[in-house]
Amino acid sequence: MSVKREDVLKDENLITNIEEVAKDTALLHGVLMRTKETPNSPEVASYAPFTLFPTPVPTVLFHQALAVQTHFNRLVDRVSQNPGFLEETLASTIKVDNFTARLFNIYKQVQHEHHPQSIVLGLNRSDYMLDHSPDGGTSLKQIEINTIAASFGGLASRTPDVHRHILKVANLPEECNNVLDNNPAAGLARGLAKAWELYGSERAVVMFLVEDVQRNIYDHRYVENELWKRNIPVIRRQFEDVCRTGSLDESKRLFVDGREVAIVYFRNGYMPQNYTSEKSWEARLMMERSLAVKCPDISTHLSGTKKVQQELARRGVLERFFPDEPETVAQIRATFAGLYTLDMGEEGDKTVAMALANPDRYVLKPQREGGGNNIYGSEICEVLENLKNSTERTAYILMDKIQPVPVQNYLLRSGAPLRLNSCLSELGVFGAYVRKGKDMVFNECVGSTQLRGVNKKEGDKTVAMALANPDRYVLKPQREGGGEYH
Ligand code: ADP
Ligand code: MG
Repeated sequence: MSVKREDVLKDENLITNIEEVAKDTALLHGVLMRTKETPNSPEVASYAPFTLFPTPVPTVLFHQALAVQTHFNRLVDRVSQNPGFLEETLASTIKVDNFTARLFNIYKQVQHEHHPQSIVLGLNRSDYMLDHSPDGGTSLKQIEINTIAASFGGLASRTPDVHRHILKVANLPEECNNVLDNNPAAGLARGLAKAWELYGSERAVVMFLVEDVQRNIYDHRYVENELWKRNIPVIRRQFEDVCRTGSLDESKRLFVDGREVAIVYFRNGYMPQNYTSEKSWEARLMMERSLAVKCPDISTHLSGTKKVQQELARRGVLERFFPDEPETVAQIRATFAGLYTLDMGEEGDKTVAMALANPDRYVLKPQREGGGNNIYGSEICEVLENLKNSTERTAYILMDKIQPVPVQNYLLRSGAPLRLNSCLSELGVFGAYVRKGKDMVFNECVGSTQLRGVNKKEGDKTVAMALANPDRYVLKPQREGGGEYH
């Protein structure tokens, strides 16, 4: 007879027995990460952090997230094509945020040049939390959309089989049937392959632009190998390699190490510290100027900033991007949490007052990616008291704090003891699109992943953890009150 998940979670003997099976299964299925000690060596690998069991997501909300993804793809693309909107939106931010200003500077430089390339490739991940309101309802709320270097599409393609096996061994066979197949790696590769074909040179390579520390390399490899299967050559290079060996020919074709590059796929370049010298910025500009398809190009990168997200949530703005599509607007808007400007002026002053009065209701976010930057609770007051009369406050936006219900689960991390944790989970949905000139020739939702934070009290520490835990979910019918999350 099979048992219930709650009972299994409490059965220490069973959990101890499953632990080894779970780790071995993750290794067997390739849910892998290199070790902290030897991040650049393929000699030693371990399992990537994952949860013992998948996370239930109500069917209705799951399908809502998948269904809205192609609209988000089009929205990001349309924002990227609207210089007036980008300029106006980022005007206050770039005065105080040096990183965004440098990106914007590249954007401005290339905007006035002839664009050699009309092919645009977007691979993004829209992240959500399930917000639990006091009246018991649960709704899907977007945390952010990542338009550059969105990760875990590879590893998430392998976790369904791992979880199915664990659920069987844990005597939870019914749950097994609820774990859906998922293959974002193949979908992301389809987008890359489409753009590569349109570029139209068999010899030209897809270049993954990667960091110098490569712990998460296996996540990339799944996408890489999908490309190789299609006989599309892939190289992996760092900013430094592009600085040293990169050049443009008279037609602005990009060459790195003597290879023509059809696509630059950025898995790096989203944080200030990724640009270790002026040369890295020069390399970014050179790639941007080139005929290579950039994933993302600089305007698509800027379209994923938190300031843009905040402006899109303003009344009437989505309508400007989808003037004849009220349904699309409604679908996108339904996923927005409250977002508030901190620009100088009356509206921004109101935001400051609101945050100071109820700091626990909000998250204060700078224009940064990669986790660990957000500000919560009393720290919001400290920061805003200091900055409230200064333009420095415009480096941030304020967002309603989403309140997901923590789910009990065991977290497996290499080298750490197994512990029952109170986990907050995020659903990440992958989108891929290709546009050639005015035509969207490819626009798909290509899968999803569960990202997990541990223990909400740790505030933003949840982030690093969140991004390190791809898993899959079990679908459950949505019940009133959403009590199944406890
Ligand atoms: P980053 O670009 O650094 O990933 P995010 O906007 O994704 O920035 O925020 C990082 C983390 O902070 C998220 O993964 C989530 O755990 C938490 N977080 C962000 N926004 C909210 C919010 N509005 N409510 C609750 N938690 C949030
Ligand atoms: Mg994030």
